[in-house]
Amino acid sequence: MKQWAKRAVLFGFDGAGTFFEQTPTPNIDRIFRSGAVCRRALTEIPTISAECWGSILHGVDCRRHGLTNWVTGKRPFPADSPYPSVFRVIRENRPDAELASFCEWSNINLGIIENNLGVYEVNAKGDEMIQAAVDYIRTHDFILIYFHFDIPDHEGHAHGYGSPEHLAAVTLADSWVGRVTEAIEKRGWLEDTLLLVEPDHGGTPPDEQGRGSHGGDSDAEKYVSFFAAGGGAQHTELHDMMTRDTAPAILHALGLPIPDTWNSRVPGGLFADVPENLPRPKGLPVRVEKPKLKKESGAFEKELAGLMPVLHLPFTTFDVLPEGTERSGKLYLVDGLRGKALRFDDGALCMPCPLEGGSVSFTAWLRLEAVENRMPVLSVRCAEDGSAWFCIAATGEDHLVLSVRLFDVGKTRHMEVGLPAKRTGTWIFAAGSFEAEAGVAGFSLNFEPFMRQLLPGRQVMGKGEYAQLLLGTDDLSTPGQRFPGELEDVCVYNKALTDEDLVKLKAYYLE
Ligand SMILES: [Zn+2]
Repeated sequence: MKQWAKRAVLFGFDGAGTFFEQTPTPNIDRIFRSGAVCRRALTEIPTISAECWGSILHGVDCRRHGLTNWVTGKRPFPADSPYPSVFRVIRENRPDAELASFCEWSNINLGIIENNLGVYEVNAKGDEMIQAAVDYIRTHDFILIYFHFDIPDHEGHAHGYGSPEHLAAVTLADSWVGRVTEAIEKRGWLEDTLLLVEPDHGGTPPDEQGRGSHGGDSDAEKYVSFFAAGGGAQHTELHDMMTRDTAPAILHALGLPIPDTWNSRVPGGLFADVPENLPRPKGLPVRVEKPKLKKESGAFEKELAGLMPVLHLPFTTFDVLPEGTERSGKLYLVDGLRGKALRFDDGALCMPCPLEGGSVSFTAWLRLEAVENRMPVLSVRCAEDGSAWFCIAATGEDHLVLSVRLFDVGKTRHMEVGLPAKRTGTWIFAAGSFEAEAGVAGFSLNFEPFMRQLLPGRQVMGKGEYAQLLLGTDDLSTPGQRFPGELEDVCVYNKALTDEDLVKLKAYYLE
């Protein structure tokens, strides 16, 4: 196999999309002038960092590597996965290779690159990170360096993608590309080093609050720019590229074999020996368990209305949320079971909930990851004093906890519900209810009654009291609580759901 390059450097621009076209990038313009460019490379859906960087570094789609922002913050990537990172493939072929990763977002070193490869890892910000890299290059003859620049994404969330602040961050990170490339040039390595610039995803323009987001499949979110120069990269324009093709490109340049478990390929035309229009291999297939849901026909909304939820949240866009909804932190709308699902990062929602006291129930499709501490998923509270009336939280590997406040005895009662084994990561339909007059709390999973308890008190929610529904938290004033999972089709009812209601819901949702 021909070796085109002795080294490769991947500059990762988090959240920069194709915004290089709207802001000065003098270093990229100069360095990549005679290289290859792809103006619209397609990234993974959902357009979220862990999913997208996972695919860029592991050469597979995001269902295969299974990485999420939450998973990457918690545990190392399995060292024996059938989908190795580009770092692991290099290590297995070149045991002495010097490998390095400089990241502004530590999840990449923690949870995306395998931890047993001896990669030189630095988690630092801005100048400190670049200085560490320049020092490293001066003293090490490396084979692969990966950079993660978080600042474009940070500014995109805060001010909107394409805002002056976001564009300025892309230009700032461009200067870092210049400084690193200068260090490589000083070593005389510019010719035989494959340099790559690539974002993981883009993002949306400023919303009404002046903020941006990503996770969806709009053009501004799903397309990114890709630049390649040196190390055999042709002077050409690339078409039909996916960002997961980056890992094969790096291996091909280094003359190393590409794993046949990957469903990616070297972009056609990037190197002189790679023809265009080769099909992308299927790789090792993956099985994903999903309940079979009926397709939404429009009639569904009416059928569900037979149960008359006081609130029904299908999460088609953030704009359809009730008036007065407060949104905090990072939230994403991603492909769910039937439509869109709400994915929590560190974000939460709080909205008016038109309950009139008495009995209360909720239903939701729910996909959760294993958690260590108690993580509130959904709660109903009194708007005036903030006291919780009703809350469902995730705890431990496979537990949900339903808490109900019993006003007449002034106590909160918790009932713990163990999920059927190994439900973590799969979709379940959860329903919780409290029948105020009888003082009975019930919980059901996948349309089957699971637990029913007579509680030692009654819930007497005063008429005319003003309720709020909170998602992802039970207290908006405590930041950083994270429910690691997704919700779809959340409904709140001002009554206790009966077993017949569950049968109706099952017929409504399932094929
Ligand atoms: Zn982001």
